[in-house]
Amino acid sequence: MKILQIKLGHEIFANCYLIIDEATGDAAIIDPGWYDETIINTLAKENVNLKYVLLTHGHFDHVSGVYGLQHEMGAKVVIHGCDREHLLDPRKSLAEGNFPEPHQPVCADILVKDGDTLKLGESEIKVMSTPGHTNGSVCYILEDDRVIFSGDTLFCMTAGRTDFWDGSDEKMIASLKRLIALEGDYKVYPGHNRETTLERERTRNWYIRRMVK
Ligand SMILES: [Zn+2]
Ligand SMILES: [Zn+2]
Repeated sequence: MKILQIKLGHEIFANCYLIIDEATGDAAIIDPGWYDETIINTLAKENVNLKYVLLTHGHFDHVSGVYGLQHEMGAKVVIHGCDREHLLDPRKSLAEGNFPEPHQPVCADILVKDGDTLKLGESEIKVMSTPGHTNGSVCYILEDDRVIFSGDTLFCMTAGRTDFWDGSDEKMIASLKRLIALEGDYKVYPGHNRETTLERERTRNWYIRRMVK
């Protein structure tokens, strides 16, 4: 799978990734915080068939670009069932009060749960439910490439906040335990800040060292 990061034009937005199954040109965008020329031009340049918008959770900084991709590009919107209402309600997505333009309401097309897999061309994307930051937070895992898109669950050296309305410390700790218990190493692409590896986070992550072990 080819993996690109799309740099959106505002620092408030989360890391946005484009993954492309090179055998077929089928593609998915992960966490489009905004819909603008940067995304449109990248999709055109890569000449892909955009199949999915994969959401790690429903916060506005990850989902405000979903409407355009669903309505203009025909991509199917994928989110965990527990975060589906975030797409409909700017209070649940935290857009209200944090961002001047509340996102347009979006109905999810595919609700995923732990253990589900999605086919992207000839590649497979595994869904791991990792509640804690929100109740419907997930990680998307590419086993063949040894890659985890960790959303706002696992960050380089730390973990996502648990103090929002549907967050939970206990669930976050359980989710991080599951992640670090995965076998072997993975490259980790988080929702904010820089990429890391699972092995590095097992040993050096401040939150995991203090709260999880
Ligand atoms: Zn975020
Ligand atoms: Zn978030």
